[in-house]
Amino acid sequence: MRPEDLLCPTPQGLCCRPAGVHVDPTRPVERALITHGHSDHARAGHGHVMATPETLRIMALRYGEDFAGSVQAVEYGEVVTLKGGVQVSFHPAGHVLGSAQILFEWKGFRAVVSGDYKRERDPTCAAFTPVPCDLFVTEATFGLPVFRHPKASDEIAKLVSSAELFPERAHLVGAYSLGKAQRVMALLREAGWEKPIYIHGALQKITEFYKEEGVPLGEVVHVASDERRNRGGDIIICPPSALQDIWSRKFPDPVNAVASGWMRVRARARQQGAELPLVISDHADWDDLGRTIKETGASDIWVTHGAEEALVYWCEQQGLKAKPLHLVGYGDEEAEEIAAPVDGA
Ligand SMILES: [Zn+2]
Ligand SMILES: [Zn+2]
Repeated sequence: MRPEDLLCPTPQGLCCRPAGVHVDPTRPVERALITHGHSDHARAGHGHVMATPETLRIMALRYGEDFAGSVQAVEYGEVVTLKGGVQVSFHPAGHVLGSAQILFEWKGFRAVVSGDYKRERDPTCAAFTPVPCDLFVTEATFGLPVFRHPKASDEIAKLVSSAELFPERAHLVGAYSLGKAQRVMALLREAGWEKPIYIHGALQKITEFYKEEGVPLGEVVHVASDERRNRGGDIIICPPSALQDIWSRKFPDPVNAVASGWMRVRARARQQGAELPLVISDHADWDDLGRTIKETGASDIWVTHGAEEALVYWCEQQGLKAKPLHLVGYGDEEAEEIAAPVDGA
């Protein structure tokens, strides 16, 4: 069997024809399987949505309860048989809470669509597990050898020492509202930061949900507008775009920090006005992309998101069959959120 008999790229996104489903479709479809709640993967308006319970909750929080015609929650490891006898199961991707790789099994052939994933430890979600397969569909957000991410805990240590060094300045951390923001909070707790962590209104719903799911974030407080001038020495987490707007100017002499894998690129840090860039990524870096591809044992590799060509070239050097998918509509959730207007203060 050819991998294309099971999965093929379409204008709506990756399609499993025998089962009649799309993975993370970018346009409304009848039946969608969703890997995780980021807005470039999880969109409203599909007929039927299958995802982990956490991803379904996140979609409801972002789009309202009626984001799809009907939904089906699938726990990690549970096997569901679809049309045509195709079996699917969801496995942890280590990217954000509820994030999953989706395994398709059909006629003895195994294909894994990984969604977005990372290998670094993350206290806010289940750890990535390599799933043996014949075809592995991998992301390549940071698919260039220049991207080797430092340890997130070392980056958080920089933030804590800056807050201690400048006790009269507010430390504003721009972080993507789903996943990154809560990971920064959890890492701050691990680093021994005991004060309340203050947040922008746009982070409230998702952060509440993480707490309900038992992620240890400690005391998290919405920063009221008349309180901003008193927040010297505190750490405040907000969407990256809030650093650029009037909201941030009410804080005493703010230190702008941005938590993103892109902070590795100096021009990006400058462009976002990051005085304190924190290289914290929720995607695999170059070394982990290669390691993961090898661990799956797959002989066919399809590459999506970002720097596809470099990773395809690397795969070919390893004797693997590889091709770029050129799917449109996915990408960089962080860049997207920087451009988007912020709701709620
Ligand atoms: Zn994502
Ligand atoms: Zn993505």
